[in-house]
Amino acid sequence: SSKLTGGNSYSYFDPKQQTLLDRQLSFESEIVRAIEKREFCAFFQPQLNGQGEITGAEALIRWKHPDKGLIPPYEFIPVAEQYGLIQALQDIVLEDICELLEILNELQLINEDFKLSINISHSQFKSSNFRSSLLNTISQFKVSSKQINLEITESMLSHDMNNTVKQMTEIESEGFSFSIDDFGTGYSSLSYLYAYPVNELKIDKSFVDRMLDKSGLSIVETIINLAKNLGMQVVAEGVENENQVMLLRERNIDIFQGFFFSKPLPLADYLVWHRGQVTALTLSQ
Ligand code: C2E
Ligand code: MG
Ligand code: MG
Ligand code: MG
Repeated sequence: SSKLTGGNSYSYFDPKQQTLLDRQLSFESEIVRAIEKREFCAFFQPQLNGQGEITGAEALIRWKHPDKGLIPPYEFIPVAEQYGLIQALQDIVLEDICELLEILNELQLINEDFKLSINISHSQFKSSNFRSSLLNTISQFKVSSKQINLEITESMLSHDMNNTVKQMTEIESEGFSFSIDDFGTGYSSLSYLYAYPVNELKIDKSFVDRMLDKSGLSIVETIINLAKNLGMQVVAEGVENENQVMLLRERNIDIFQGFFFSKPLPLADYLVWHRGQVTALTLSQ
């Protein structure tokens, strides 16, 4: 028998499990090393309104691995969450956000409504020092909490409603705002959406992709109407082509985000893109 110890149903030895655990543990120590070596940073993807004005940008974490190149977030965020490293990653992204905001403020390249968004993972959102860690980081920079938007997902709303509303309300009272990311993919009860202090819904890319089907289009329309009825802004994620822009524009989407406008860019490249867009818009007026 492969049973190593008696009485414990968890202690069957499974070689496949073992290698997975080994791999995760070595990945964990790689992440720790990479944090120390400053291999993580935020990229920024612009968000624009129907007039082509930049309303904000989303910060997306990247791992610039010395051998493996750019590693996308889905490969390491779950591991970082599991091993308690997500706070360190959030701090890095928030610091990059603050750094970019300081530059944009200084150069007067943004108006007072401009916001940078950060993705908040489930475990961060639930942790008791979440609010204080946000405030602590931004206090080290010349930025306002009003310039920072927190993206959470529907699943974070689905349990413990009273506590979640309380936590969000406290954070909102500090000046931060909230979006619901990947909206439509979770199972949030629509009837309770109004109870949360949410500023914005982000329509998931999967629906934007399917707008040429009648059913896909009607989902997009429904989310846009829902947002408007609740007094929220609505963003379309993953906009890749002119056709989508046209369909969304006709339905009065507030904000566009996607490769059609720009991929997520490193901070320096984002600044160049931002200046170029501001200049182009000024010239066209
Ligand atoms: P998300 O927040 O929904 O971010 C949007 C994702 O769609 C990004 O992928 C972005 O690069 C990609 N995207 C944007 N426009 C287009 C487009 O037109 N076409 C296509 N094909 N893709 C587009 P990314 O950067 O790989 O991030 C994936 C997810 O990882 C994010 O989804 C978010 O859930 C998570 N994530 C990213 N950065 C962070 C972070 O700093 N903290 C946490 N907790 N999660 C993060
Ligand atoms: Mg997001
Ligand atoms: Mg999203
Ligand atoms: Mg998404």
